Amino acid sequence: MMKTAMEKLVVVGAGITGASSAALLKKILPDGAVVKILDKSRGTGGRMSTSRCSNGKSATVDLGAQYISINLHYAKVHQSIHEELISQGLLKASTCVMEGDKFGGEDILHYVAPAGISSLVKHFVKQAGAEVAYEEHVTKVDIENKKVKLTTLKGQEELCDGVILTMPVPQILQLDGSIRQLIDSQPKVKENLENVSYSMRFAVGLFYDPGVTLSYPWAVKYFRDNPCVCYIAIDDKKRGTESDSVGPSVVIHTSVPFGMKHLEEDKDSVKDIIMKHVKELLPDIPEPAEVKGHKWRYSQIHKSYVNEPGCVVLSQTPPIILAGDAFSHSNLDGCLTSSSSVRDAFINCTGLDQPTNRL
Ligand code: FAD
Repeated sequence: MMKTAMEKLVVVGAGITGASSAALLKKILPDGAVVKILDKSRGTGGRMSTSRCSNGKSATVDLGAQYISINLHYAKVHQSIHEELISQGLLKASTCVMEGDKFGGEDILHYVAPAGISSLVKHFVKQAGAEVAYEEHVTKVDIENKKVKLTTLKGQEELCDGVILTMPVPQILQLDGSIRQLIDSQPKVKENLENVSYSMRFAVGLFYDPGVTLSYPWAVKYFRDNPCVCYIAIDDKKRGTESDSVGPSVVIHTSVPFGMKHLEEDKDSVKDIIMKHVKELLPDIPEPAEVKGHKWRYSQIHKSYVNEPGCVVLSQTPPIILAGDAFSHSNLDGCLTSSSSVRDAFINCTGLDQPTNRL
C-alpha cells in the first residue's frame, strides 16, 4: 500500500480520547510530522477536567470523572498503560471511605488521581508532544485537494492531512462543511450517530480556605433517595491529598433525572437549588469561600454507537476519524480502547507502519 503523506494531523478535543489518540499516532507518524490538538474550552481534560479555585489559592476539584475503575479484563489489556500511570504517581489505589453504595464488583479495582483527574490527560498530551490550541471551537470540516480544512468560530483555518474528531457525537453532528455530505452519504452511519445518547447532570465544586475542617467519617457518599443530589465527595480526602496549606474541596453531582429536569436552565441558578439540597443533607457543612457550578450536557454514554466499534472512519483519504467514549464506553479504559482503534484505523487509511509498542 502507498503511504499517504502525513505532515500534519489535527485532533479535535483535548479530552482523554483525543490526548491518548495523539500520543499513539505520534509514534507512527513520520519524523517531523506535527500533531496539533484544538479544543473549544480553556484547558485540558474535557470530561476529565480539574477545576481550580479562582482566588489564587491552589485548591482543585474534579468536576467530571471521579475514579478510574479497572476490571480484570482491562487490567490485562491496558496493563502497560496502567502501570505507567501508577509508576508516575498519576494513579493511586483508592483507600478512602465510601458510604451509601456498593461500589462495583469484587473484580474491580478503584484508583484516584492525586494531582487531579486532568493530570492523566496532560500526561498523554505531553507524550504526544502536541501543541494544544485552546478556545478554538471547530465549526466546519471540509475536504479540499485531499486535505482537511478546519474552520473555527473565530474564523481561523487549519489545513491538515488528517483529523480525529473526539467531541461528543451531537457536537459532531452540528459541524458544517463537506463533513455533512460525508455523513449524509453513509445513511447507516448517520442513523447510528443519531442514535447515540448521553446522560446529563450538574456538578458543583466547593472550595474552602486553609484551616477549615470538614469532619465527616467518609470521603465519598452516595445518596439514592434525594431528588437532586446523588453523590458528594470531599475531593482532597478522596484523592488522599489533604494538606494544611490548601483548603479542602468538595464535589457534588446531581442525579440524572434532576439534570434532565433542569437541562435548559442556567448553571448558576441551578447551583443555588443544588446547594439548598446539600444543606439539607449536611446541615453542618461550613460556608465555602467559592462555589463553582457546571452543566454536563453530555455526561456519560447512555446509548453507545451500535456494536461499540471504538471509532468510525468517515473518510479514508484524507483520514477523518470519529472517536471517543460514544464508540466504546464511558471510562478511562473505554477511551483507551477508542484510541487504539483510531491508531489501527489510521494505519489502515494511510499505510503508515505498525508501531512496535501496541496498547
Ligand atoms: P471529552 O472528555 O468530552 O472530550 C471532548 C473534548 O472536545 C472536550 O474537551 C470539548 O471541550 C472538546 N470539544 C467539543 N466540541 C468541540 C469543538 N466543536 N471544537 C473544539 N473542541 C471541541 N469516567 C471514569 O472513568 N470514571 C468516573 O468516575 C467517571 N465519572 C464521570 C462523572 C461525570 C459527571 C462525567 C461528566 C463523566 C464521568 N466519566 C467517568 C466519564 C469520562 O469522563 C468520559 O468517558 C471521558 O472523559 C470522555 O473522554 P473523551 O475524550 O471521549 O470526551
